[in-house]
Amino acid sequence: MVATSVAMPPVATWHWLRGWARLPRLLADRSRAPLPDRSRAPLPDRSLEPLPDRSLGPRADRSRAARPDRRIAPSRLAAEPARSAAEPAHPAAEPVRLAPRRPSAPPAAAPSPLAPPAGPSPSLPAAVLFDRDGTLVADVPYNGDPGLVVVMPGAREAVERLRGAGVPTAVVSNQSGVARGLLRAEQVEAVNRRVEELLGPLGPWMVCVHGPEDGCRCRKPGPGLIEAAAGALGVDARDCVVIGDIGADVEAARAAGARAVLVPTAVTREEEVAAAPEVASDLVAAVELLLGPAEGRR
Ligand SMILES: [Mg+2]
Repeated sequence: MVATSVAMPPVATWHWLRGWARLPRLLADRSRAPLPDRSRAPLPDRSLEPLPDRSLGPRADRSRAARPDRRIAPSRLAAEPARSAAEPAHPAAEPVRLAPRRPSAPPAAAPSPLAPPAGPSPSLPAAVLFDRDGTLVADVPYNGDPGLVVVMPGAREAVERLRGAGVPTAVVSNQSGVARGLLRAEQVEAVNRRVEELLGPLGPWMVCVHGPEDGCRCRKPGPGLIEAAAGALGVDARDCVVIGDIGADVEAARAAGARAVLVPTAVTREEEVAAAPEVASDLVAAVELLLGPAEGRR
């Protein structure tokens, strides 16, 4: 104890003096070592660091997270999965495929083996011009009595089919009984009104009241009544069809350049039938020649 007390002061003194002796050398070494240049060291720019966005998850593109597209609802942005770098940043820039404005046309139905072969549908006539006596109504010679008017078989159906098809009609009739002094014009008109009561409106009525010796152009087989009816309807006579029961009707149609269909009756001569370009058994059959068969008859 005594030895320690005697020896320690000299040892401590020696270490103290040795430390002071190394001080100048240490100062000289620090002056040669470069101090870190804090002016050139880049300070971390925290303004460029994105704010943590927990909604994008750990793999989200932080640069996009720092500039969120405000056209996207935040709820959608939060629900979006993280995109890869190849994916477009803005869904609005993607091409938009618009829905068709009209439904697509249904596929064409396969032709039924029972259906008739498709062919060119006949073009509709511009108008159908009916003879009156023996065609629309029974022929009562020089009839002036509306009470004697009887509609011919199939006349109503034929007229209705033409109306349904939008084909205009008219009536062209010789009434030579007026010229012969057997009828008055008023009686002719009364019979005509009765015909329309039974068949409905038939369009313009073109009536010739001349006799065979008058030399008029309107009396059939002249073309005058056909031309007048076509003119009243505003169509070309050559686009019309005349339906009658005797040769004079066919000849009048031919003279006007119209198509003729003969519907013979008991008074029709055989040579008139033979000379007719088209013959039908009744009025319905005649209209079918023009419009094609009706729905129920196909
Ligand atoms: Mg007739």
